[in-house]
Amino acid sequence: MAELFYDDDADLSIIQGRKVAVIGYGSQGHAHALSLRDSGVDVRVGLHEGSKSKAKAEEQGLRVVTPAEAAAEADVIMVLIPDPIQAQVYEESIKDNLKDGDALFFAHGFNVRFGFIKPAANVDVALVAPKGPGHLVRRQYEEGRGVPAIAAVEQDATGNAFQLALSYAKAIGGTRAGVIKTTFTEETETDLFGEQAVLCGGTSALVKAGFETLVEAGYQPEIAYFECLHELKLIVDLMYEGGLEKMRWSVSETAEWGDYVTGPRIITDATKAEMKKVLAEIQDGTFAKNWMDEYHGGLKKYDEYKTQDSEHLLETTGKELRKLMSWVDNEEA
Ligand code: NDP
Ligand code: MG
Ligand code: MG
Repeated sequence: MAELFYDDDADLSIIQGRKVAVIGYGSQGHAHALSLRDSGVDVRVGLHEGSKSKAKAEEQGLRVVTPAEAAAEADVIMVLIPDPIQAQVYEESIKDNLKDGDALFFAHGFNVRFGFIKPAANVDVALVAPKGPGHLVRRQYEEGRGVPAIAAVEQDATGNAFQLALSYAKAIGGTRAGVIKTTFTEETETDLFGEQAVLCGGTSALVKAGFETLVEAGYQPEIAYFECLHELKLIVDLMYEGGLEKMRWSVSETAEWGDYVTGPRIITDATKAEMKKVLAEIQDGTFAKNWMDEYHGGLKKYDEYKTQDSEHLLETTGKELRKLMSWVDNEEA
């Protein structure tokens, strides 16, 4: 059974006694920095020259310095910039500013797990990752609640790294909801697998294949869009609230019967065998290496895939249909 930690298990004064640098002010960065400050923590934000988010951070009352200055001033450095650039920023701005007993924090284990960042042995290395997007993390904190988080220690130089991580999690509201203890390896591998096989990759491919099947059979794209994409939200909301059981309780008996007999014909033993291969390529670092090569090689295939899908009939149909849905926040990205 997973180990869970709540407010009473965490000592806020630990992080209040430290100086924290939040590097980056995007989705997670703004939420962490603002909530740390509101929890009475001494926090500064580290942003690169010409950063677009600098003005916003300053407007919101935070002190912004360069990533190197932030790392030099602070003794807890939380890295909240996009994963593919973390290693470079670490090399250029953080590494030489780490002192004995400092703590290097992450919200995702990618760079440490796959060896792109190799911190020296004299610092604590830990992970505090809210299980939700930054804006939700911040809003929940402001409302006196919190988003569940996971925490892990990769390197415990001081012997107190986990208590420090819990204290940090408390300052951003995580322990109000509950913090689950994990490891960098487990967090990184399950996160990558989940987004590839199920949440993003698996779901996108399932939706597209279902939509194409209906359209190729002569049905109207608008009807196919509703059946294969739009209604997915209603189904997932039910699963989120009460698992498969609540979803099946809510849909018709006919839909439930179709679920039992047809689901396994779509996600077959072959699909699961492929999932195991995907997981193996995550575990042995193949995925991470390929992704970093693609990223630093100029994102050519990435851009190709993106364009291909944006021109897909599913997407062009959806764009028109969503104009009819006044309740959907359909501002184009
Ligand atoms: P974002 O993409 O939102 O981070 C963007 C921020 O990084 C901006 O402030 C940007 O500045 C800044 N930035 C870009 N380059 C640099 C640089 N060279 N030096 C300093 N700052 C820079 O990141 P996320 O919040 O999505 O992700 C941060 C970490 O959190 C990642 O490790 C991610 O895996 C993890 N995570 C993210 C979650 C999420 O909800 N998004 C959930 C859980 C974990 P500018 O304004 O100039 O662009
Ligand atoms: Mg992820
Ligand atoms: Mg139906």
